[in-house]
Amino acid sequence: MAPQIVILGGGFAGLTAAHKLLKLTTPKAKEAKIVLVSESAHLYWNLASVRAVIPDQIPDDDLFRPLSDGFTQYPASRFKLIVGKATSVNFTQGTVTVQTDSRTEPVPYDQLVLATGSSLPNSLPFKHVGSTDDTTTALHDMQNKIHQAKSIVIAGGGATGVETMGELAQFYRGQKKLTLVISGHRALADLIPSVGKAAEAELAKMGVEMVHNATVTGRQEETSGSTSLTLSNGNTLQADLYIPLFGMAANTSFLPSSILTERGDVKLDLTLRVQGMQNVWAVGDVGNLETKQATKVDPQVKHLVNNLQAVLEGNGNGVTEYAPSTKPLIAVTIGRSKGTGQMGGWKLFGWLVSYMKGRTLLTEKGAALVSGSS
Ligand SMILES: Cc1cc2nc3c(=O)[nH]c(=O)nc-3n(C[C@H](O)[C@H](O)[C@H](O)COP(=O)(O)OP(=O)(O)OC[C@H]3O[C@@H](n4cnc5c(N)ncnc54)[C@H](O)[C@@H]3O)c2cc1C
Repeated sequence: MAPQIVILGGGFAGLTAAHKLLKLTTPKAKEAKIVLVSESAHLYWNLASVRAVIPDQIPDDDLFRPLSDGFTQYPASRFKLIVGKATSVNFTQGTVTVQTDSRTEPVPYDQLVLATGSSLPNSLPFKHVGSTDDTTTALHDMQNKIHQAKSIVIAGGGATGVETMGELAQFYRGQKKLTLVISGHRALADLIPSVGKAAEAELAKMGVEMVHNATVTGRQEETSGSTSLTLSNGNTLQADLYIPLFGMAANTSFLPSSILTERGDVKLDLTLRVQGMQNVWAVGDVGNLETKQATKVDPQVKHLVNNLQAVLEGNGNGVTEYAPSTKPLIAVTIGRSKGTGQMGGWKLFGWLVSYMKGRTLLTEKGAALVSGSS
């Protein structure tokens, strides 16, 4: 019987892996059937969520693209999309339990690819928060809250916090009080100091207040509707809206802790297999080999597909080790026209970040990703 490869997660990693596997042409790989299981029926271009949380900035259709549209090009015998949530895996029997709208079904696999990505701990719509409907509802709710708030505090000086604050500052400059709480002495602390300095200088010019060396340790909703935030430095802040943008974690609650690191990432060996397993693999944010960035997805997926092809062909020697990259490559937008970033040891020019990414936040690339032509 043709081998069945089950991919869990229809994000950047799972979607790309499905297309690349379906395009394999070697005789045995050509027969394999791909089953893509995704809680969300759409690809969410979450890179643009930092702008999309402001009402009327990006149409939903540019953010959410149906996964099914991309797979009509393949014979039905080779591909199946199941819109549902993987709730457990039985590694001994080789089955995944999937919960769809109407039923719970066991999905058998010969090879399993984990690509369930990551999310913020508080169901904020900067990543998928469940089904497509769940995510669009959460996004529209956030747009309303942002529209109504006169004061907004964001906690988190990483790329998501800085980019979101940059968008708010550009759009609402002078209309809302905007504060960014940064846990260390500088934003973008994982990058070279000049990058964080540049980001802070742009935000300051746009009127953003920054609080350094502090975390939010408590929050209390006031009867007035505003939130009182207690900071680790003993101060308090009042905000109509508080947006905590830190603590991104892998979506692995359906997996046994024995295959996870302490922070919940899937433990992989360099072949991209789950440590100690022969037919379970992982790519993208869910794994522990590289930083959680879309730029890491493509090289990982290409490697995974080569290795899977070797396995399908019975060529054990063809399974090779992946070389994770430790070189930073990140472009951080600050509104449409400003930005910063780092490539290797070099700080990126703001105008370049704006030109390459800031104008559209790359939403135009979603269609090619869904159709497998990117
Ligand atoms: C605001 C923001 C901006 C970003 N900007 C950039 C950027 O500019 N450049 C960059 O390189 N990276 C960026 N990133 C990181 C990027 O979003 C991730 O690296 C990328 O989404 C990883 O893709 P993935 O497919 O591994 O996971 P995800 O995109 O998280 O996709 C996971 C998929 O799995 C599904 N899923 C989850 N759990 C289950 C389950 N139990 N069963 C079935 N399906 C499930 C989800 O519905 C989703 O379809 C940004 C992240 C954020 C939050």
